[in-house]
Amino acid sequence: MDGSEVTLAGHVHEIRDLGGICFLVLRDREGLAQVTVLTKRADRKLVETVRGVSRESVVLVRGRVKAEPKAPNGFEILPEAVEVLSRADSPLPLDPTGKVGAELDTRLDARFLDLRRPASMAVFKIESAVMRSLRNTFYENGFIEVCTPKIVATATEGGTALFPISYFEREAFLNQSPQLYKQILMATGLDRVFEIGPIFRAEEHDTRRHLNEAISVDVEVSYADHEDVMSLLENAVSSAYRYVSEICEKELQILGVDLDIPKTPFRRITYTEALEMASESGRKSMEWGDDIDTETEHYLGSLIGEHYFLTDWPSSVKPYYTQPYEDKPEICKGFDLMHPSMELASGAQRVHDYELLISRIKEKGLNPESFEFYLKPFRYGMPPHAGWGLGLARLVQTMLGLENIRDAVLFPRDRRRLVP
Ligand code: ATP
Ligand code: MN
Repeated sequence: MDGSEVTLAGHVHEIRDLGGICFLVLRDREGLAQVTVLTKRADRKLVETVRGVSRESVVLVRGRVKAEPKAPNGFEILPEAVEVLSRADSPLPLDPTGKVGAELDTRLDARFLDLRRPASMAVFKIESAVMRSLRNTFYENGFIEVCTPKIVATATEGGTALFPISYFEREAFLNQSPQLYKQILMATGLDRVFEIGPIFRAEEHDTRRHLNEAISVDVEVSYADHEDVMSLLENAVSSAYRYVSEICEKELQILGVDLDIPKTPFRRITYTEALEMASESGRKSMEWGDDIDTETEHYLGSLIGEHYFLTDWPSSVKPYYTQPYEDKPEICKGFDLMHPSMELASGAQRVHDYELLISRIKEKGLNPESFEFYLKPFRYGMPPHAGWGLGLARLVQTMLGLENIRDAVLFPRDRRRLVP
């Protein structure tokens, strides 16, 4: 407080030299602090240092605090020593104060500088809070966190969209989903597992919601059906909103976001109902058995206007590990969690019967032999189970209304972008 001695380190946000008085505005994780140098009275060396420092350099200041109503926070620092710890080159690749706007590509190329902008930083503080809230939800519900391999020998769902890598004398792949491994874990007695980890998809499309590396929040639960894991999912999402609204007030304000906490339970709409809603609109109609296209997804989203589940999909659309309804095998216990603007998660009750799983794999035109490591546990006591995978960046993107998924990923990977 007034008169007390402080030591402060941070980036040089701004330098204003008015001749007799020179302001050095420092920025650290708490915000801005004004260092005021009375150039006539201060030590000559110190004045030279301050006048010679470049914007965004890292400096260390020792001095006394003085109340000053015109300074940020109502205080200024009268320095006794100023040391430049790391000098910044100029010109800067972008303006970290955000006064001069920059294209997304420029921002991502100089991400370390972009993140000095409060609005960019705020997204990742919120993302951290989201992960923390999700973990809290899982631990409160008796889950344990697991780590499954990301270098694998086979695809999860057939040959497409995989990144091959060379693995000594063999070919291997980057995992597109922890699906098979989290299911294997259901045979171990670890009845409730979650993993927050990367998935890799070699898809070539360039969209606002796809990247080639994404973080997936995955769960698998034994003795549970699709309904059980849908309620876990809606609670996890709604709790994450609530947690962010409680602990990230400042970040939300910086982003100008007014969070509406989604109310549970979310609406459930069957695939067939969704098709009817879409056809009533008189738009081009989809055939029963088609995957729901992006255009229809947007139309449904605008009609419903809040989070919802799409349930009871045709078995032919969902992967082989999705459990068909016993009395109506042409539909299955798979579901998608939808935000009005995009899919957030997919899940299902899984097939746990060995014979059924084999026949489902064959129906999809896949070879059960290449899944032997996955199928084996189903022969030695596999409990019924269900689970889902939720895209972390999409959750944050939709929560904050970000235009592009790249805004919700520190170092996004897409077709063109491999560095930084
Ligand atoms: P989409 O149909 O939107 O391409 P998907 O159905 O192929 O997604 P899933 O295999 O169901 O994706 O993966 C589960 C979740 O992981 C998705 O709902 C999404 O939130 C996230 N996800 C999947 N692929 C990507 C990606 N390429 N980029 C970002 N997030 C992704
Ligand atoms: Mn999906």
